[in-house]
Amino acid sequence: MKKVAILTSGGDAPGMNAAIRAITLQALHFNWQVIGFNAGYNGLLNKDYQLLDSYSVNDIIRYGGTILKSARCSAMKTPEGPILAAKVLAELNIDCLFVVGGDGSFRGACAIAPHYKGNIIGLPGTIDNDVNGTDQTIGFATAIDTAIDAIDKIRDTANAFERIFVVEVMGRDCGFIAIESAIACGAEQVICKEIIDNETSFINRLLSAIKQSVSENSRQSYVIVLAEHALSMSAHALSELIATRCNIDCRAAILGYIQRGGSPVAEDRILATQLGIAAVNLALENQKMVMVGKRNGKLVTVPLAETNLKNEQNKQLIQRLNQFNFNLSGRINQH
Ligand code: ADP
Repeated sequence: MKKVAILTSGGDAPGMNAAIRAITLQALHFNWQVIGFNAGYNGLLNKDYQLLDSYSVNDIIRYGGTILKSARCSAMKTPEGPILAAKVLAELNIDCLFVVGGDGSFRGACAIAPHYKGNIIGLPGTIDNDVNGTDQTIGFATAIDTAIDAIDKIRDTANAFERIFVVEVMGRDCGFIAIESAIACGAEQVICKEIIDNETSFINRLLSAIKQSVSENSRQSYVIVLAEHALSMSAHALSELIATRCNIDCRAAILGYIQRGGSPVAEDRILATQLGIAAVNLALENQKMVMVGKRNGKLVTVPLAETNLKNEQNKQLIQRLNQFNFNLSGRINQH
């Protein structure tokens, strides 16, 4: 009989519970013993864990967050952290560790690997969609829906007051949430790091596009979706700059943590369930140190060490902008 462990790490994402459930039920199906480390790598280092059985995962599929708690763990970034993690895994006789998290969590897994005889399998769980090797991460679809809901409401106020809004969405260093929610909300502009070569000239282009739009139709609302950290200035500073330079009322709204929570949408529940089952099957086949993802509708595996390659993601993101007719200055082309 195998003994396996699960941890959820990094920013929590809706659908992590669905992944825990699927891994647990599939492992139990093979008569494996399952434990869950609490609070990400912290639980692993501190031997803080719980036994998982079918009762523990009953009816968790519909809840956001993670029953195992998620956390960041700075000790894992020290030379001793991964060695201790490997020691604990060996002491507890864990044959395979399932890590549900983002590329940072997978870097943690890669740091453990040289010291650990067992296996580690990754499942992409983050709202940011910033993991190479999968078209979509668990939590991304829900985060988009949450952002859309909020931006639509902001648009109502923008319409009523003939105002410009800068809406900041999450995404850490990646523009996927900004782009997908901008497309879905019909935003007039999207700003993310991937499309900015030179910030000063980008801002100048943005300001002249706004001025032009305002002069052509002063009664039209105007929504700019801004990815966090895309600019060196804050969303509030940008809205003040727009207000001053374009002589128009402009407000900033920062969506923040509401995008991380909430009941997962069907797409995330189904993706997490598929990836959870597949991850256990990969462990059974003894495939080592891979992440399971989905590309073009098919399950795929990617070496954990390659999950943080950004070039491929940037290409995908630019393709997406082009597909939906945003030009590379972030502005939707007029027909
Ligand atoms: P995400 O997994 O969502 O990308 P983070 O980047 O915050 O989130 O990473 C989550 C955790 O993974 C960190 O708190 C740390 O414990 C571990 N981790 C990240 N990078 C490394 C690294 N280079 N070496 C070891 N552990 C890491």
